[in-house]
Amino acid sequence: MLGIDIGGTRTKWVQWSPEYGVLDHGELATPRDLRAVVELTVALIRDADVAAAGIAVPGCLSDDLRRIELLPNLPGPWADLPFADEVETRTGVPVRLVNDARAFATAELRMGAARGVDDALFVTIGTGIGGALALNGEVVRARGDAVGELGHMICRPDGTACGCGARGCLETVAGGWALVAQVRARGGRAETPEDVVRSTGQVERDVLDDAGRALGLVLSNVVAYTGVTTVVIGGGVAPAFAYLRPAVEAELVHRARLTGPVDLRLAHLGPTAGALGAAIITGADR
Ligand SMILES: [Zn+2]
Repeated sequence: MLGIDIGGTRTKWVQWSPEYGVLDHGELATPRDLRAVVELTVALIRDADVAAAGIAVPGCLSDDLRRIELLPNLPGPWADLPFADEVETRTGVPVRLVNDARAFATAELRMGAARGVDDALFVTIGTGIGGALALNGEVVRARGDAVGELGHMICRPDGTACGCGARGCLETVAGGWALVAQVRARGGRAETPEDVVRSTGQVERDVLDDAGRALGLVLSNVVAYTGVTTVVIGGGVAPAFAYLRPAVEAELVHRARLTGPVDLRLAHLGPTAGALGAAIITGADR
């Protein structure tokens, strides 16, 4: 199986077999142009010589999982493109689309931080914020693979406009680029999310504290709603979680009489978890 994870900045791929595990992996810059993304996907599948491919994307999929309806961080007329059909026709390899956070969760549940856990919540903090829910040992994957949009839970109704069309989504407060934007709006000089995390300045600390509180609020609500007691944090900006953690834990402790203690864990599988999950999901379907 080949798993491809088309990220907002990097595209990761993994060749995986149920018998032998990860056989090969790599990554490239994600092109900024829709057609170039299609060409890269076709080239990766042709090079891999595999029976099937799973493609994880950071956006919304059509109900039948054949088209990408919306990619907030890679704008383009995606909804007009029969993505899965075109890639299948040109490569002769069956492909399926999955949401990248649900793919990440599948890998971490099967062989990572949540191995052996039945019920868990998963959060990816990168360019944006993704999420997923596992119940009874399975990642919940309903119509359009749409269960788990934690990044688009609204925590500030009058807040900043989000790529999804709403205002004040969690992603606009705690996503990687939102951290940078907020530091700049307060007079700071961050260029990347890493700059925000590395800085010891008060502006950066305040932005991270706000982001941690917003993340903790959303997580505590979802924990209360679903009853899960394990939360796995991953994604490209996961190293920033050390700085978000005190504020997140404070929010979770507020709710502990209702929810009980919550086990916050860092993801184990690193940046290729999404690609690995896409390959596992594709293998399970065959
Ligand atoms: Zn949103």
